[in-house]
Amino acid sequence: MDEQAAGTLLEQASHTEFSPSWISEIRALGWDLDGTLYRDVPEIRERMEGQVLTTISERLGQDLAWVKKEYRQRLRKIGSNTKVIGSFGLDGPEVVDLSFDQIPFEQLLRPDPKLKRMFASLPNLRHVLITHNRIDQARRKLACLGLPESVFTLVVPVYDWEMSKQDPSLYRKVLELLTIRPHQMLYLGDREAVDILPAREAGLRTGMVWGDSSAADISLPTVYDVGELFQVTSEK
Ligand SMILES: [Mg+2]
Repeated sequence: MDEQAAGTLLEQASHTEFSPSWISEIRALGWDLDGTLYRDVPEIRERMEGQVLTTISERLGQDLAWVKKEYRQRLRKIGSNTKVIGSFGLDGPEVVDLSFDQIPFEQLLRPDPKLKRMFASLPNLRHVLITHNRIDQARRKLACLGLPESVFTLVVPVYDWEMSKQDPSLYRKVLELLTIRPHQMLYLGDREAVDILPAREAGLRTGMVWGDSSAADISLPTVYDVGELFQVTSEK
């Protein structure tokens, strides 16, 4: 076998593995925003955390170092930032919003033409953005990334629905709106507790991006690999 033929075979083998049979059943993709449509930007996370901790410390009249230590311990147990803020007796979404507005996203998030091309390569799927961001915050980030909001059939700012991403009924409601069955939707996120497990509980297919999750149906090294996953299917 010549080198080229061997290469093609290898490529086919990896594609087979890469694209499970259930992919052909998928009609819609659900997308988390932060850490999914763009890879975690440490500076954003650090600035957000700094703002949140300062706000908690000021509101409770507690020492910042104590708040920091306590916050991290609780976050390990609870998993969701808004819920941790709530555990201090404060309004989680309100504190997150306040901190969010202080972050210069326009300087920290850059346009991503590769992401835009990936969405353009998936015209036969409906896309739903499911986020803990307020709608104006989500729009601001999409604008920074250069991704038009119009690529999404539906944008779900979960707090406006008075729900949380950790609530499996959120995903059932999205399925109802799209009039599709659970196995026809693939939900993509970057955190197991917040994205993968609740969507899985609702019966959706799940994909972890920018990392690995044994709980997800598929794990992809980057968000761009989602495009490849469906490209392979359409070539079959
Ligand atoms: Mg995320």
